Amino acid sequence: MSIIFRNILFVTFAITFAVDVFLVDSFSTQDIKNESKIIFFDIGQGDATMIDAGGGNQILIDGGDGKMILEKLGKYMPLLDREIELVIMTHPDKDHLGGLVEVLKYYQVAQIIETGIVCETAICQEWDRLVDEKDIPIKYAEFGQRIDLQSVDIKVLYPFENLHDQKVKDDNETSIVLRVDVENNSYLLMGDAGFKVENELIERNISIGAKTLKVAHHGSKNATSNDFLRIVNPEVAVIPVGENRYGHPTQELLNRLKNMSIQFLQTDLSGDLVFE
Ligand SMILES: [Zn+2]
Repeated sequence: MSIIFRNILFVTFAITFAVDVFLVDSFSTQDIKNESKIIFFDIGQGDATMIDAGGGNQILIDGGDGKMILEKLGKYMPLLDREIELVIMTHPDKDHLGGLVEVLKYYQVAQIIETGIVCETAICQEWDRLVDEKDIPIKYAEFGQRIDLQSVDIKVLYPFENLHDQKVKDDNETSIVLRVDVENNSYLLMGDAGFKVENELIERNISIGAKTLKVAHHGSKNATSNDFLRIVNPEVAVIPVGENRYGHPTQELLNRLKNMSIQFLQTDLSGDLVFE
């Protein structure tokens, strides 16, 4: 199978794919299915989304905090598949990156996309060390990049330019924003971006309409404005949230969704949300 970064790079996973199929056919009763799906994990206070592109190909976007992601991958990945084709780290906060560090320890990751902003926390240092040790190729996110994996199509909508090595005040506002198309459904994944990023996307007339919105920043009141919701015009909003001391999801945010009659689902109340 191949994953294609249009105009940017081209990596094939033909050998890996063949090995996966062989192992599963030979030793497992668990089928590798070909349908695509997207799963928003109930991962506590944090954020982790997996796109299963079918055929044993996965893309993981953030990993929540800590080891819980390993249980989730164990549940949703084929038994003997130890490779994730692509990991996207939206921004380096611990509730997104902590679990990805665990993923690097236990899975082979073929490719990483991140912003590359300067981050000197302990968790970032561990991440950088593991990426170096395992020699995983990194691509820095930038508007216009496109990732095709089987029937899954992903577009990078934010940041508008390569932020590698930049020092930033608020890393939430550098979150990688993605538009994902899977099986005739469209998703807008906002990371922890706030009003600033939303306004920039609106001002630049970026196409942000989507059937499903993964609400930014766990339902913070400082994201997901009325104007933004009107333009995205989602049928469903997914709120990745767990027990927390920030009051997420905030009543302000829930009221905005209710006033526009947008159905919403919280991972803490509904568990893992699987869209097929
Ligand atoms: Zn977060």
